[in-house]
Order: sequence, then C-alpha cells, then structure tokens
Amino acid sequence: MYRWGVMKVTVDSEVCQGHARCWTICPEVFSLDEEGHSFVADPEVPSALEAKVQEAVDNCPERAITLT
Ligand code: SF4
Repeated sequence: MYRWGVMKVTVDSEVCQGHARCWTICPEVFSLDEEGHSFVADPEVPSALEAKVQEAVDNCPERAITLT
C-alpha cells in the first residue's frame, strides 16, 4: 500500500564505490555487502531517520544515493 509522505531511498550499485560513509552515518537503513558496497534492504525511510539518510546522501562522494 502506498503511503503519502514516505521517503524512499535507493543506492545505485553501479555507482557505489564502497566507501561505507552511508553505513557509518545511518546503519539502520544502509547495509554493506561482502565487497563493502552499500545496499538498502527496505527502501521506505522511517520519518525519524530522514535527517540521517539525508546526511548520508550529502556525504556520499559518488552521489550514488537517491532520496525521493
Ligand atoms: S557512501 Fe556512497 S559510495 Fe560509499 S558505500 Fe555509501 S552509497 Fe556507496
């Protein structure tokens, strides 16, 4: 079911270089695979974590994270 106002986050695995900055900032949302690349298990961002996810977006050197 679609809920209005829920932010969604994705990581472009083609662009991610595995700096793990996103995971350091917000391990509640970002996970790392065995090569250290980031992925998101659940794209829906809890409202309480929006600020941290935005911080991760701002700190990703590859601009691999999209928040919509
Ligand atoms: S900070 Fe960006 S490049 Fe680094 S692991 Fe996270 S998504 Fe990938």
